[in-house]
Amino acid sequence: MNVLRPTLLTLACLLASPGFANDLPSLGDASSAIVSPQQEYQLGRAWLALLRSQVSQLNDPQLKDYVETSVYKLVETSQVNDRRLEFILINSPQLNAFAAPGGIIGVNGGLFLNAQTEGEYASVLAHELAHLSQRHFARGVEAQQRMQVPMMAALLAGIVIAAAGAGDAGIATIAGTQAAAIQEQRRFSRQNEQEADRIGILNLEKAGYDPRSMPTMFERLMRQYRFDAKPPEFLLTHPVTESRIADTRNRAEQASPGGTEDSLRYQLIRARVQLTYEDSPGLAAKRFRAQLDENPKNDVARYGLAIAQIKGSQWNQARENLKLLLAKSPNDITYNLAQIELDMANSRLPDAQTRVERMLNLYPRNYPLNQARVDLLLKQNRPVNAEKALEGLLKSRPDDPDVWYLVAETRGLSGNIIGLHQARAEYFALVGDYSQAIQQLDFAKRRAGSNFPLSSKIDARQREMMDQEQMVKDMMR
Ligand SMILES: [Zn+2]
Repeated sequence: MNVLRPTLLTLACLLASPGFANDLPSLGDASSAIVSPQQEYQLGRAWLALLRSQVSQLNDPQLKDYVETSVYKLVETSQVNDRRLEFILINSPQLNAFAAPGGIIGVNGGLFLNAQTEGEYASVLAHELAHLSQRHFARGVEAQQRMQVPMMAALLAGIVIAAAGAGDAGIATIAGTQAAAIQEQRRFSRQNEQEADRIGILNLEKAGYDPRSMPTMFERLMRQYRFDAKPPEFLLTHPVTESRIADTRNRAEQASPGGTEDSLRYQLIRARVQLTYEDSPGLAAKRFRAQLDENPKNDVARYGLAIAQIKGSQWNQARENLKLLLAKSPNDITYNLAQIELDMANSRLPDAQTRVERMLNLYPRNYPLNQARVDLLLKQNRPVNAEKALEGLLKSRPDDPDVWYLVAETRGLSGNIIGLHQARAEYFALVGDYSQAIQQLDFAKRRAGSNFPLSSKIDARQREMMDQEQMVKDMMR
């Protein structure tokens, strides 16, 4: 699993050699060949797998769905050409987000803690997407406008460090910090930052947001972290200065008013993230209750209180709060999912089932609702049905390791052992553990025995994974 650590050391050696930082192309071996867009895409995917093997992630389907939907909305009006994106939600309360070559979008839980409105959240992502669309990562090779392999490797190593945060001693070695620092220099020059702000602001407006959210976010971050000895990663790489704020403020003020500043949906998702980082459900409940006492009409606080109460096994109190919210918005997905969670935790499975079915009739393609149906079927001890429901989910999320993990578990329960090994293989490949992935397909082939069509299908997939493993090895050389 520890593919990355030797790489960081290798990188450190590369970086230690004189002239590296100014003269990247001089590495001059086969691996410094220019990366084609398709290679960039594949390298991005391979790197995402490695990143997944290194950092803890948030796997809340509602949070994932929100981030994906909101980023695609921004991408639509952006200058990003290749819109095949993959997402990683990093379990860290530190403020950070990135959009890396190959279409990898990373968001820390801490972005939600820091961005107080949807507009602020969107302004960070619009800025990051602008780095991606303007190919700021490829600065060393402007002529070709293409990334080079060692650069991409160094860049992504830098991202792993940043993503992991300074707290992770295992990854944030001195070597890694150097790799990160050099990358940050390339990416975060003043000129690139200005350009990303400018293009990000235009994109915010086109996507229907109020671009004033960007300077507002910067101003608040500056006030908040002004005296911090150790500001969050995002501010280290994106120094917020008075002039930068003034610049973005001037640009934003040119937009016509009326754009979206915030949404209830963002605030509900934010409450979920806040609950994740609260020390205990009790503390979270206390905080949400204080907000509710201040303003009894604060639905976000009531929702936060309800989910904190579910987490703290206070079923009846949670039920009372959800009842008020559902009376107001009977078809709200977030409220209904909270009620389903409560009913499942509270052994009211028929109620949960009725609600899941009703909601899926309204929103048949909604990922969190489909996930809830699978969870419920498993709780009802109906693994064969759950397996079938998961097939549908896989069609829309074929590269989601969380889904593959559950598919493996479910196939195991339903007695589909070949399928279990196949699903485990997909899961391991997605989280960067190719040797386990390939081994799982050996198990599957052995089971498939004389079923020739099946075993040759498994064989073909295994070869693909071996190629992928080789590509990663080449990339890290
Ligand atoms: Zn930036």
